[in-house]
Amino acid sequence: MTDIRDAVATPAAKPGTPTLEVRDLHKTYAGIEVLKGVEFAIDKGQVKAVLGPSGSGKSTMLRLMALLEPADRGAILLNGKRIGAEDRGGRMHHYPERRLAVERRDIGMVFQRFNLFPHLNALENVALGLTSVQDVAREEAKERAYKMLSRVGLGDRDHHYPSELSGGQQQRVAIARALVLNPQVMLFDEPTSALDPELVGEVLDVMEQLADEGMTMIVVTHEVRFARRAADQVTLFDSGIIVEQAEPEEFFENPQHERTKQFLRHVH
Ligand code: ADP
Ligand code: MG
Repeated sequence: MTDIRDAVATPAAKPGTPTLEVRDLHKTYAGIEVLKGVEFAIDKGQVKAVLGPSGSGKSTMLRLMALLEPADRGAILLNGKRIGAEDRGGRMHHYPERRLAVERRDIGMVFQRFNLFPHLNALENVALGLTSVQDVAREEAKERAYKMLSRVGLGDRDHHYPSELSGGQQQRVAIARALVLNPQVMLFDEPTSALDPELVGEVLDVMEQLADEGMTMIVVTHEVRFARRAADQVTLFDSGIIVEQAEPEEFFENPQHERTKQFLRHVH
């Protein structure tokens, strides 16, 4: 069987081309426009924190970027190449599922709810994507999964089931599960929002370590401390558009837009 991966393989990025970019991204649910032409790009090795009020479209943007849902309009580009759909004379033509499945491999996603399989232990949860999606042999998959669990500080919890792990540990397993597939970019959707306060730090530590190691990351979060410490740029999302984007110090100390000032009064 020919590998569809070869047919749609992502070209090496030209210098200056963002790793992941969206242009004029639109999405409407039941007549309500949730994304109103979002423009957003991230370069290799960059970390971008995305802040914004609840309901402003942050999760929708990430789901569209991860090709979990089709956009109504606009483009998603990985290393400058359109993924998910193409524009044919002003009409979106969404790629078939088989092709999407391959394109999705380059984009890792971590959700607020970790959604681990309860009947599989930590190691099996992490290895599953390798054996089922990437056809990696069982033994190799387990080895790679174990390495990734160790990287998130859970090498000694490999045989624990999700019910035997804390929320913070489960979220770290979920991070390992995404990382083991070797994505080009990691998307995090409020990864610490479902955790008890005392468990937030261990997850943020793992994410900061990833950032230090050069991972390309988009992180939707309410954690201002994380945004200040780990992000290269902070973005404010509101009502389906990007309002402001700046380096953390500038964003927090000298916001340009009234909307940003107003938002920051609530989170500080
Ligand atoms: P955020 O992550 O910023 O809180 P979301 O992207 O989850 O915002 O949601 C933006 C808006 O879109 C909300 O009003 C939400 O109710 C609506 N929405 C999101 N997903 C769906 C869906 N699958 N069906 C209908 N409405 C949706
Ligand atoms: Mg959300």
